[in-house]
Amino acid sequence: MLDVGADYAKCEGYANCIMAAPDVFDVDDLGVVVVLRDSVEDGERDRVTESVRSCPVSALTLGERRN
Ligand code: SF4
Repeated sequence: MLDVGADYAKCEGYANCIMAAPDVFDVDDLGVVVVLRDSVEDGERDRVTESVRSCPVSALTLGERRN
């Protein structure tokens, strides 16, 4: 499992992250990212990584679960 993280203060609502993983990310009415799932399977790594990389302000993280 991989943990999904978001820095809500950094997010500027570009919504790029939704393109590759609409089941993991959404944007609320105020234009701030919503993390729909805070963990994803290893098999989802590539597309969630694409979302993380697509964020223009580097607000998203994806990392190995530690427990
Ligand atoms: S791409 Fe980045 S700035 Fe845009 S909504 Fe997603 S987290 Fe926020």
